[in-house]
Amino acid sequence: AAEEGFDIDEIDAELDAAGHGPLPVLAVVGRPNVGKSTLVNRIIGRREAVVEDRPGVTRDRVTYEATWNGRRFKLVDTGGWEVDVLGIDAAVAAQAEYGIETADAVLFVVDATVGATDTDEALVKIIRKAGKPVVLCANKVDGPSTEAEAAYLWSLGLGEPYPVSALHGRGSGDLLDAVMAALPEAPPQTFGDSPVGGPRRVALIGRPNVGKSSLLNKVAGEERVVVNELAGTTRDPVDEMIELGGKTWKFVDTAGIRRRVHLTAGADFYASLRTASALEKAEVAVVLIDASETLAEQDTRIISMAVEAGRAVVIAYNKWDQIDEERRYYLEREIERDLVQVRWAPRVNVSAKTGRHMEKLVPAIETALEGWETRIPTAKLNAFLGELVAAHPHPIRGGKQPRILFGTQAGTRPPRFVLFASGFLEAGYRRFVERRLREEFGFTGTPISISVRVRE
Ligand code: GDP
Ligand code: GDP
Repeated sequence: AAEEGFDIDEIDAELDAAGHGPLPVLAVVGRPNVGKSTLVNRIIGRREAVVEDRPGVTRDRVTYEATWNGRRFKLVDTGGWEVDVLGIDAAVAAQAEYGIETADAVLFVVDATVGATDTDEALVKIIRKAGKPVVLCANKVDGPSTEAEAAYLWSLGLGEPYPVSALHGRGSGDLLDAVMAALPEAPPQTFGDSPVGGPRRVALIGRPNVGKSSLLNKVAGEERVVVNELAGTTRDPVDEMIELGGKTWKFVDTAGIRRRVHLTAGADFYASLRTASALEKAEVAVVLIDASETLAEQDTRIISMAVEAGRAVVIAYNKWDQIDEERRYYLEREIERDLVQVRWAPRVNVSAKTGRHMEKLVPAIETALEGWETRIPTAKLNAFLGELVAAHPHPIRGGKQPRILFGTQAGTRPPRFVLFASGFLEAGYRRFVERRLREEFGFTGTPISISVRVRE
């Protein structure tokens, strides 16, 4: 069930900030008892949680998130209003106007077994005036015998009536196809400066001499490199398209790798600029570490840069051909001690020299990208949070016990969560929630962020 006090506008703002455009909104409009609630339940499959339960004029207006054919949209059920002293027409009209106002399209529901009433006609006028795209649902067409009654609804002048049985599901697929055609596309998801799509963008980063250019040469193999001269000079391709594991990948900013920087003053500064610029363009970072040497502070700093940039992360230990038993023992301890904060990153142990385990690179990158793009449906997340809160409540502080009321995943790439709580959640508890989230849902190879909104 929904908790009081969270604000859909705030969640929307989060989604926008995460690079998702606002979802298109469909208002379900119709007079009482035509089957709006039944239809809404049918569309959302009764799976989705209520994401908004804000008091309307007389009763609640409820917003749900729904998906059809991979497209997400919001569904506003304007039903459930009580007829007040103004009488049925005024109440229904107010309800419809209220719902239509914020919608991108209208799903107008009529009871086909009753036919068009005066109230329905009044609603048609309001819908026409709003000028929004409309899909006409002729509901309660439970079988072929009532199909003919749906045809009478052509008289409303809203185009083709879609015969549907909200109760049994009959015709709802065709109806939803029509709805999707009426709704505007969600604005394309963008990331950084380029739209999503095309080859995935990989940044190969790591401190000098860990083997970046050797690895690049190994995976590229001279003749397979497709030179892609983007913003670079004609001599220095900025990015390279490389085929790996049957797919094309864009290794960004490879010019910075191939252009050897000698150990002069400012080389470190240059290297860190290159790392930052590669991360800026990439979706996933492969952080290369020289396994034959003691883990350096610079290694952990580069990992932190990738995490803070919000990129998927794969850690590749290179020069594995030079590892003996003793070094391996110390390496494991270094990882335990210094890389706990990226315990979630997939690890591959490779050798650019011998080609060892090169084939493991692509699966690791793909796993990390998958985690990076994972979205947990609101209902599932809240079922999980409910159990977590019940089993492991926040410790009592100053006589009070802050509680998580509701959570939502506000974004992906990387996953971002917003928790609404009745009080301040301590850092330790937030880390605990993150750990449990990872145990439950995976998120291999991706940083995740959790922000908390306190409700008084
Ligand atoms: P709302 O007031 O518009 O939200 O309507 P409801 O969804 O509450 O439905 C009103 C009544 O119509 C309920 O008794 C439903 O079971 C019934 N109903 C809804 N859809 C159908 C349908 O497709 N076929 C039939 N036979 N009854 C339906
Ligand atoms: P970059 O500065 O990160 O691009 O590193 P380079 O690719 O230039 O490699 C630095 C040195 O490490 C070179 O002498 C390479 O031959 C050597 N090297 C790179 N990868 C390996 C490896 O897997 N095994 C061994 N033994 N040496 C390597």
